[in-house]
Amino acid sequence: MQQHATSISKDLIQRYDTAAPRYTSYPTAPQFHNGFSEADYRTHAELANNSLLPRDLSLYVHIPFCHSLCYFCGCNKVVTQTTNNKVNEYLDRLLREIRRRGQLFGADRLVTQIHFGGGTPNFLSAEQIHLILDEIAQQFHLDLPHKLEIGIELDPRSITPKGVHELNQQGFNRFSIGVQDFSAPVQEAVNRVQNEADTVDVIEAALAHSKSVNVDLITGLPRQTVKSFADTLDKIIDTGATRIAAYNFAYLPARIKAQRMINPTELPSTTSRLALVALARDKLLAADYVHIGMDHYALASDSLAEAYRTGSLQRNFQGYTTHRETDLIGVGASAISNFATAYAQNEPTLSKYIELIDSDKLPIVKGLSLSEDDRIRHAVIQQLMCRHQIDLSAPVGRLADTDLHTSMSDYFAPELTRMAQLAEDGLIELDQARLTITETGRFFMRSIASVFDRYLPQSQSGQVLPFSRTI
Ligand code: SF4
Repeated sequence: MQQHATSISKDLIQRYDTAAPRYTSYPTAPQFHNGFSEADYRTHAELANNSLLPRDLSLYVHIPFCHSLCYFCGCNKVVTQTTNNKVNEYLDRLLREIRRRGQLFGADRLVTQIHFGGGTPNFLSAEQIHLILDEIAQQFHLDLPHKLEIGIELDPRSITPKGVHELNQQGFNRFSIGVQDFSAPVQEAVNRVQNEADTVDVIEAALAHSKSVNVDLITGLPRQTVKSFADTLDKIIDTGATRIAAYNFAYLPARIKAQRMINPTELPSTTSRLALVALARDKLLAADYVHIGMDHYALASDSLAEAYRTGSLQRNFQGYTTHRETDLIGVGASAISNFATAYAQNEPTLSKYIELIDSDKLPIVKGLSLSEDDRIRHAVIQQLMCRHQIDLSAPVGRLADTDLHTSMSDYFAPELTRMAQLAEDGLIELDQARLTITETGRFFMRSIASVFDRYLPQSQSGQVLPFSRTI
């Protein structure tokens, strides 16, 4: 499919640059509640095990430690300078949690994907990472080595090319590297000064060991200009990174304490932020990357672009993925698990997480059992985010694996009526049979998807929305 360069009017920005979720889940995390217990989690795990064709499993391992605080960061993390007792204590509980979780899933639940996120997973030593992988291998049934994807997020400030090689020796075959922006004034403003040559060396080492290497960039950071960000983009394109995520900075100082260290007068205006987003898209398309969705791009030869072309792309808490829908098991502080019928989230605070593990419990503190309507809307939002279109003539049940025969256009009649303005503004094309997001609409995908979010109007009743702006 031909993808075109970008031009968006100011009027559209004013109308659609609203606060909306990123939809890595639906319902989104603010809907999780603490009435959801460990017993509920066990019931849903059992249900998933007993389904006719049990899904494969993905494991997410959360390592919350970081060496220093980046002011833009909204992740669950603990900043500490030493590899001290705190880390060993955490590691010990993490291994115990893996043991407990493993007991809930049978031999027919194959693990096809393992992802280490954080925080900074490469805060851990090679020996510590080995302990975790070894425990997973003992407690779960892993797919064949050549099929198993093992990914890790890397902070290039604390790993060398040799370290990347060692990770590959341990089985890691997917790397995601945090860059954000190479400009020195931007790096200083967000307290993340990172040497450019060292970063490029780490990316190149990762590319030597993996078919898929992702680089994370951020648009909308303080002191960022179109010129400085163009320079960063050129340098990253030159490395040959196969995937590039250019996230919009989610500025939420009321909720994320670290962001209060950012001088708000140094943040780019909405128009400048859109110029940065448009710049990323235009440069990446010109360099043969495919815009696969939201803020993600992949080289045409990368498996993510292939999944986009064939309609098998999926979206989960780690962003876009090539894996068909799996059940996600999150281990570690704040990690989220997901079955077809429920979400469950672990305790985020380290000390409380440790207490829960010590009291022989799973550290689950909140979650949500999904209603049929939740599952239908989840499937619709997935379709929009991953395929940019939905078939309105199909029965609702086909999309969401339920028995409902009502057509999509009937089930979502109120939402489709509300979307008339989006069609008029050129963000979607809408007829009896199909809703398609246009190329302009891709910049506002979160706003478009939010029309199908049953919970969002409740959040808008007077309280501060816990979501960032869409651009
Ligand atoms: S961006 Fe990464 S390294 Fe920086 S504070 Fe957040 S998790 Fe830690």
